[in-house]
Amino acid sequence: MEQAFEEKCMKLALQEAKKAGEKGEIPIGAILIKGNKILAKGHNRCIEFNDPTAHAEILVLRKAGAVLKNYRLNGTVMYVTVEPCPMCVSAMVHSRISRLVFGAPEPKFGAVESKFNLLQGEGLNHKIEVKKGVLAKECAEVLKDFFNKRRNERKIGRSSENKVKRILNAI
Ligand SMILES: [Zn+2]
Repeated sequence: MEQAFEEKCMKLALQEAKKAGEKGEIPIGAILIKGNKILAKGHNRCIEFNDPTAHAEILVLRKAGAVLKNYRLNGTVMYVTVEPCPMCVSAMVHSRISRLVFGAPEPKFGAVESKFNLLQGEGLNHKIEVKKGVLAKECAEVLKDFFNKRRNERKIGRSSENKVKRILNAI
């Protein structure tokens, strides 16, 4: 797919990530498109919804299903700023999206290649094409800025800082 178009889509996902950050959520954003049409946009809202499953990707899949009035989302493309976790990758397989494009790798929970390879292997009955590294630096920067700011505001646990370091080191 054309690079300029991919970057345009990732920028929209980045805008979503920033919205999450402004609300104090870990800044990860996603959009789902079909052709040139945006079906859904979303960002991480776990704290807001008191919902550990309210990751950007899950919210986007739910919205898109409602828009299309279909629980199968064949022919759609997911753009997400950070490599998705096992829960989100599994949800993408269930939803039958065609393609996944992500920005920064996520060494601790990334389930496309960094920690797990859930899209590889013979057992899967649905293949998702993957592209990584679109605006990777910008996507990682949003996380880095968020944690830097939060660290300045109050003391945070080492785990979050290490997460950012891992992401930045992996680029
Ligand atoms: Zn997730």
